[in-house]
Amino acid sequence: SQAAQCTTLRRFALVPGLEQVRTTLPAAQALAEFRANPWVEYAEPDYIQRKSAVPNDPYFGLEWGLHNLGQVINGTPGIPDADIDMTEAWELGTGHADSVVAVIDTGVQSSHPDLDGNLWTNPGEVPGNGIDDDGNGYVDDVRGWDFFAGDNDPEDEDGHGTHVAGTIGAEGNNGLGVAGVSWRCRIMPLRFLGPLGGTTSDAIDALNYAVAKGVRVSNNSWGGGGNSMALYEAIENARAMGHVFVAAAGNRGENIDRLPEYPAAYDLDNILSVAAVDHRDQLASFSNVGAVGVDLGAPGVYVASTYTNSTYAWASGTSMAAPHVAGVVALIFERFPELTHQQVIGRILSSTRATPSLAGKCVTGGVLNAMAARADRNLGGPDGL
Ligand code: CA
Ligand code: CA
Ligand code: CA
Repeated sequence: SQAAQCTTLRRFALVPGLEQVRTTLPAAQALAEFRANPWVEYAEPDYIQRKSAVPNDPYFGLEWGLHNLGQVINGTPGIPDADIDMTEAWELGTGHADSVVAVIDTGVQSSHPDLDGNLWTNPGEVPGNGIDDDGNGYVDDVRGWDFFAGDNDPEDEDGHGTHVAGTIGAEGNNGLGVAGVSWRCRIMPLRFLGPLGGTTSDAIDALNYAVAKGVRVSNNSWGGGGNSMALYEAIENARAMGHVFVAAAGNRGENIDRLPEYPAAYDLDNILSVAAVDHRDQLASFSNVGAVGVDLGAPGVYVASTYTNSTYAWASGTSMAAPHVAGVVALIFERFPELTHQQVIGRILSSTRATPSLAGKCVTGGVLNAMAARADRNLGGPDGL
């Protein structure tokens, strides 16, 4: 018979009569033939088992935005699965060390034990020799740049940038603290926000730094500086380099289609503008919205992440929502490096989970879904994968 074309590879002491066989037939046909054979009690494929994608980080249970089991956050229980389906997305991989995300913010605590292994270093720069070895205009920029202070030390004196960085890429499954959306990546700290904010010109330089290094995604949890043609053109030129600019929608509780807040409200197809939702799928009261100017929602109320002084902290804001999206963009680029920025953004926008609180409040009316955005088949996406 056809079934005779199989070779026995193994027998199992623990299960008498069980044989592992290799057959030349397609799996479905082989199974059908075995199952029709009265001498075979049962036949099944040698299923691939995978390690659980739930990480061992002790504060992972606080990260309702990644995996919501209905846990109590700030005194109220969440709604199970009101999250971005991160554990499901991690089944497809948890990040790679060659995936760089620029964090244009207040800097990052480089010695934080849950971040220090995931920080970008400049391969073209010799540290401490006083020479701009890679010729990018910055001397000894070994790990990003501080555009606010004008030096090579983008340390975080605030906490905001360290919190954002941890949501994107805190070291996952290392038995410590929290897990980032990407367990392994390279955070490029670009500080331009000082204690009283930062200038548009410094933000443009920071974005240019990232784009010149070929970085395809940046997180921009800042805004409110008015309509700058220069910033618009900078982001537009970054688009020509395939760069995805993830922007916080802003925290004024306004509709940015009527009262624009920039850069979130710029009409450019390489900007993802992100509103904040809570652990019960409700739009945050502070979150800006906009059926045109805001693209989607993401977790942004009581987000647990890394903080300065090697600590952890809760924080709320669209600033906390945007890095969830930036992390997922990085994971999509890692899995499908050939995609254009439009295709990656198409995947994000076509795969959101609709929720009533966002209906009419943003382009998609839904919340980021990491699993669907990253899946092999993303049916709504323009790439046809
Ligand atoms: Ca340099
Ligand atoms: Ca140097
Ligand atoms: Ca960790």
